[in-house]
Amino acid sequence: MCTFCSIINRELEGYFVYEDEKFAAILDKYPVSLGHTLVIPKKHFENYLEADEDTLAELAKVVKLVSLGIKDAVKADGLRLLTNIGRSAGQVIFHLHVHIIPTWEGDYPDIFKSFKPRKEQEKEYYELLQKIIRESIENLKRKIGDYKWG
Ligand SMILES: [Zn+2]
Repeated sequence: MCTFCSIINRELEGYFVYEDEKFAAILDKYPVSLGHTLVIPKKHFENYLEADEDTLAELAKVVKLVSLGIKDAVKADGLRLLTNIGRSAGQVIFHLHVHIIPTWEGDYPDIFKSFKPRKEQEKEYYELLQKIIRESIENLKRKIGDYKWG
């Protein structure tokens, strides 16, 4: 089974910052910046081009919600949203996911240098980050009210 299907099924560890029936958002295991998160449909699609249009439309809404939550939580100036399609584009896990990468003014050139694996001793740090982003998204959902997300 693929890594993301295993995380979604709780067979592998993942720091979930958002979850609904169809989508999950987890902290990236190899963050390039603080708050780097992946939005993943629970259904397995190899990449963006393999997913059906309805899924992509719903995915866009979840990406927006999670992006707003992250931007607030880590006080980012901006965000990069990207999805890799195929090995040549840098796709490593062949289960559709959208990267949300927070950015800060003046910090841009360093983003890809800071690419590094999560270390076990950073567990507390990730748990705190997970909590902050989760709460930020929950607050947004409360503010937005009736809007049906996901
Ligand atoms: Zn999968």
